[in-house]
Amino acid sequence: MSRIAIYPGSFDPVTNGHIDLIARAAKIFDKVIVAVAQNYHKKTIFTTLERVKMLKEATKKIKGVTVESFDGLVIEYARKKKVNVLVRGLRMISDFEYEFQMALTNRRLAADVETTFLMPSENYAFLSSTLLKEAAALGGDVSQFVPKFVERLLKERLRRED
Ligand code: ADP
Repeated sequence: MSRIAIYPGSFDPVTNGHIDLIARAAKIFDKVIVAVAQNYHKKTIFTTLERVKMLKEATKKIKGVTVESFDGLVIEYARKKKVNVLVRGLRMISDFEYEFQMALTNRRLAADVETTFLMPSENYAFLSSTLLKEAAALGGDVSQFVPKFVERLLKERLRRED
């Protein structure tokens, strides 16, 4: 039986931290479904389709990875896909409380779905899409945090939002 995991998130946009995590997950699982959340509580600067496209491009060289989007509860999506493992990333301790709450809430809602946590390379342990967008909007050089094509799209999008 093949081991499959779902890695859900907003990925607005995908960063090197996400890619690092996907590569680690792909070593453990036969298949990793990166699942882009559609109805997210955060306002995103990229549409769902754009986020999916960026992730596909960013992960095209990692074997066993597919990218999809989903709407609604992640556990419902997992059930629909018949997958019972979720992957989430843990950066510094700041992620812990939120991730812990979410994993336990999801467990209450779906006892058969297990959440696993992976840690990124320490190079990305502080990197978030939110801070990245802030830095880019203020004219910071974000080339070390995202693939080149994402940097370009980010600059374009932020320019248009001015
Ligand atoms: P969400 O808004 O659901 O947290 P994100 O796209 O920001 O979605 O992140 C998805 C998952 O990836 C989360 O578990 C988050 O902790 C993790 N993550 C985000 N950035 C990094 C990073 N730099 N290193 C490791 N994990 C990360």
